[in-house]
Amino acid sequence: MNAVTQAIAPPMGLLAELTHRCPLSCVYCSNPLEMERAAAELDTEGWKRVLTEAADLGVLQVHFSGGEPMARRDLEELVRHAREVDLYSNLITSGVTMTEARLAKLVEAGLDHIQLSFQDVEAESAERIGGMKGAQARKLACARMIREADVALTINFVVHRQNVQHVGAMIALAHELGARRVEIAHTQYYGWGLLNRDALLPSRAQLDESTRVVEALRPGYEGRMAIDYITPDYYASEPKPCMGGWGRRFINISPAGRALPCHAAETIKTLSFPSVKDFSLAEIWYGAEAFNRFRGTDWMPEPCRGCAFKEQDWGGCRCQALALMGDAAATDPVCSRSPFHDKVLEALPVGEGVGPEFVYRKNPR
Ligand code: SF4
Ligand code: SF4
Repeated sequence: MNAVTQAIAPPMGLLAELTHRCPLSCVYCSNPLEMERAAAELDTEGWKRVLTEAADLGVLQVHFSGGEPMARRDLEELVRHAREVDLYSNLITSGVTMTEARLAKLVEAGLDHIQLSFQDVEAESAERIGGMKGAQARKLACARMIREADVALTINFVVHRQNVQHVGAMIALAHELGARRVEIAHTQYYGWGLLNRDALLPSRAQLDESTRVVEALRPGYEGRMAIDYITPDYYASEPKPCMGGWGRRFINISPAGRALPCHAAETIKTLSFPSVKDFSLAEIWYGAEAFNRFRGTDWMPEPCRGCAFKEQDWGGCRCQALALMGDAAATDPVCSRSPFHDKVLEALPVGEGVGPEFVYRKNPR
């Protein structure tokens, strides 16, 4: 651990990945291919200490995610603790195990916001993508419970070539279910998404049509429901600022307590990620080599080093550079200025068929 560098701003958000366990098996899941077993998960007191240290560090929001965070029996206790230390709490859930009694406990504990994910609008397609029979009816019931409890709701759809033609119906469903915000996010290709990329990546025509539909509908929802639309990196000519820049905005804690600059960071085997069992969050944020390695712009190779956009996209995504180039320190090949941009162009599909069979994640116990 290096000396503390106070010039670095504190993180805004804490992503608390409470568990990798989940009743679904979404084919684009961002969880790692090797998931953490339940026995390795950080215990209640460990998570409470993380929440306290996050608030002390200057974090404003905690996002409880997973896997399915509802699989943790202590979720209410953690939500209550987040409220006690003055963190805004957001629950990112598939909703399939929600009951009125559990929701009432979460609300009573101080939960501020719920982000509910759907895999599609039609049950058959949604349940094929998520790998769980009966999930859609449970999700719809969950959305109604959230509306009755008057908790702020965002509905999230991850889109790809097998559901992208439904974006208009997705927006309509989110509004009907009382969402204040809907997020239509094209799949990110790491973790299980990368493994299933050939079955998920839309064609250029499919992407353009989905963008057209979203932009045509947006004005009609103004003032009633916000629409976030996130396009796939592979069709971009400049990358997105992944996580707002490495070690700039977010700190992610894995189920076992390892601190990561983003949830896919453990794919970078050349870095070692410190555990919250051994170090405080402040020591990790300011001093850990894993956080400082790609922080700022000093680490950048050309063409990023001399590029006018380097403090806008922070060089793009390190995990994508690793996945496509085998080198986490390379310019993100999504960038058209990268000498290896053809790696991305080669992956683009030529047709619009369903592609190969899905590979489903197997859940840890
Ligand atoms: S993406 Fe699907 S499988 Fe992965 S954690 Fe979320 S609901 Fe579970
Ligand atoms: S060269 Fe680097 S900094 Fe410039 S746009 Fe591309 S990825 Fe961003």
